[in-house]
Amino acid sequence: MGSIISWGILRFAVVLVAMWLLRDAIAEYGDWWMLFFFAIGAVVLFPAQLQYYRHREEVTEINKDSLCTSCKHYNADEALCTSLDEHVTLAVVPCEGFMWEPK
Ligand code: SF4
Repeated sequence: MGSIISWGILRFAVVLVAMWLLRDAIAEYGDWWMLFFFAIGAVVLFPAQLQYYRHREEVTEINKDSLCTSCKHYNADEALCTSLDEHVTLAVVPCEGFMWEPK
């Protein structure tokens, strides 16, 4: 989730710089604002939304098929081991099962 926000901030900064450089190339100020909001939607919001949906799908897959889902240290919303502060993946159980405790 943090990477979605940090990439969103980075893309927003790129859009700001690009639009600042384009400010003299666009004659109408209203057109500049329209292009600015379009760029925010196309370059910042839409990719962030796609990343979020991909993240939710991964978390759903992990929640279906992982040892960690039955452990009391598991945060199902973020697929996170709260004991080790590491993300669980389908391939990797961070503690390798040694710290598993029932819910
Ligand atoms: S302690 Fe181990 S089994 Fe439990 S959530 Fe963390 S990695 Fe998974």
